[in-house]
Amino acid sequence: MQGLPPEHISSSLILGSAVHQALARYYLALKDLGKPPEREVLLQSFRSDLMARIDREQKPIHYKSDCPDGDGLLAQGTGLLNAFLEDPGFSGMEVVAVELPLSTPLTVGNDIALVGVIDLLLKDTLGHLVAIDHKTAKNAFTQEAADQDLQFSAYALLLSDNGYLKPGQPLTCGFNLLRKLKSPKVERRLTMRTPADQERFSRLAQAVLFAIEREVFLPCQGWQCGDCPYAGACADW
Ligand code: SF4
Repeated sequence: MQGLPPEHISSSLILGSAVHQALARYYLALKDLGKPPEREVLLQSFRSDLMARIDREQKPIHYKSDCPDGDGLLAQGTGLLNAFLEDPGFSGMEVVAVELPLSTPLTVGNDIALVGVIDLLLKDTLGHLVAIDHKTAKNAFTQEAADQDLQFSAYALLLSDNGYLKPGQPLTCGFNLLRKLKSPKVERRLTMRTPADQERFSRLAQAVLFAIEREVFLPCQGWQCGDCPYAGACADW
């Protein structure tokens, strides 16, 4: 709202971006070559990508106590990808698109757009689209959290407005959750989004835009504050 620069960058964000990149490589190979990359090839490209992200970062990196430096991040990411490669899931589906960029107008005058990138778009054996979101997190995702997740409603709106869904067609969505545990593991949750969910998301977005225009800021404190790059400005508010 005030255009403030972030105070730092979370190591989780850097790790999550590098893991997303590796998963994109995995699914692009499946799409284009019909088979995944070799494990060592994928892990090596992940290591190079992660170290490059750390090296070029200008802002201070905010590491966590359980993963206090770049080497720790590298080990954690390698563990996550090994767990994924042991159990890739969502098998038997066609890869339609990887990192699919889409946009749609959010306002009547088309001056503000919703812009998003869908991590992975699959098609099941019945021809139905399945939108997948990759996540790296320590905690589990409950079914209730998946059912209420707004990101999937945004995905459904983007796919619908860009002609991927027929009018009135629901969208199946799934989380590919790579859990940052001592023994990393992958969990998956499926959920659905209907046109009613798209409408609710649009109404919510209008309300948020309305508040931003009037410079309304209400701190919403919770688990997310620990990594927040605006925590200092928020405390001074
Ligand atoms: S409430 Fe938490 S997440 Fe929101 S701006 Fe403040 S510190 Fe950041």
